[in-house]
Amino acid sequence: MSKLPLRPGSVIGILGGGQLGRMTAMAAKAMGYKVLCLDPTPNSPCGQVCDGQVVGSLGDREAAFHLARQSDIVIYEFENIDAAVVRALEGEHCVPQGSNILAITQNRILEKAHLAAHGVPLAPYRVVRSAADLSHAVAELGLPLVLKSALGGYDGKGQLVLRGSAEVEAALAQVARGGEFVVEKFVELHQEVSVIIARRPGGESALFPIAENRHCQNVLHTTIVPARLSQDASQQALELATSIAHSLDLVGILAVEMFVTPQGLLVNELAPRPHNSGHFSFGACYTSQFEQFVRAVADLPLGGTDLLFPAVMFNILGRHQRQVYANWPLLQQKGKVHLYGKSSNADAGDGSFCNAADSLVVEAHSLRKMGHILLRSSDPEPEIAWLSGLLEK
Ligand code: AMP
Repeated sequence: MSKLPLRPGSVIGILGGGQLGRMTAMAAKAMGYKVLCLDPTPNSPCGQVCDGQVVGSLGDREAAFHLARQSDIVIYEFENIDAAVVRALEGEHCVPQGSNILAITQNRILEKAHLAAHGVPLAPYRVVRSAADLSHAVAELGLPLVLKSALGGYDGKGQLVLRGSAEVEAALAQVARGGEFVVEKFVELHQEVSVIIARRPGGESALFPIAENRHCQNVLHTTIVPARLSQDASQQALELATSIAHSLDLVGILAVEMFVTPQGLLVNELAPRPHNSGHFSFGACYTSQFEQFVRAVADLPLGGTDLLFPAVMFNILGRHQRQVYANWPLLQQKGKVHLYGKSSNADAGDGSFCNAADSLVVEAHSLRKMGHILLRSSDPEPEIAWLSGLLEK
């Protein structure tokens, strides 16, 4: 870590070229750093705003080393990258986040085992590696359950809700095809919240205001800040995030997603990178999660995270894109629109642009995150209803 604290003019190499990398690169550039990224898609959202892009797969060791040789530090903006590649980089280059937290958080089995070992409250769960494991879990935990693939899952991908025997049969067939899973109790949610915490190599940490999140088809739809949570629950959420960050020896930024249930808070999952539910901080906090991430990995003093105004963040998905374009001046008047530079043709939000016979392709495009809107509002419900009505037309 001799390159730290990182001086202006130094080069930050980002593994991943999506919107999280893009907004991190924008913050890093404002601080005087140069930024490169690695992504398989030429002219990726991040590549568009940085000083150069290595085009290559995130599992390609040679491409990752090519990026690292041109960088003073290497960071990642995405957890589904090969932890073995990051471990190899770590041996020769400065990788402040490290590979350990990545290896744990990219595998639900390891993540839950780590959290359980540290006394973090979780929904009751079982590890499933065979149809027999799943049958035992159904007998022990009872329905309803959620089956989640151990690897590669986010935004509800690779998940199956089991409410009755038909779904259990489908899940048994899925498990019999191979792979590793966790199955957990489907919990009664009052609310979903997330806490984002940044931490420097020496242990200094800073928490962002708690975000209240609403999902639609498992994808984040809206974030409301401040979260409407009791003082006790808020205190517990902040303490949980802090203790989890310390237990993982976090360097960088971590999002801790939690369920608010009648039995109290349960931790759902972790993400060792900037998080969609922290996008409100880009405009509504004194320091954004992206700048804070850069400060943490550069080993600089963390910035204040004060909320400047109550806010609503609304995700713009592929299916909203046509209405965003049609209502562009109105949306600019209402708030701050942030687009991620994803191309509109192949990625369009509805079937009319896609020429896709496969409805799954159309659905994937329709759920693709294209941007977000930040509204300043202390009365979120009417704003959310208005924006949903406008964009879902
Ligand atoms: P995940 O990919 O684990 O974040 O899950 C995506 C979304 O599915 C969550 O944000 C919840 O809305 C829902 N979900 C996941 N696990 C459960 C559960 N055990 N009980 C109820 N809802 C869940």
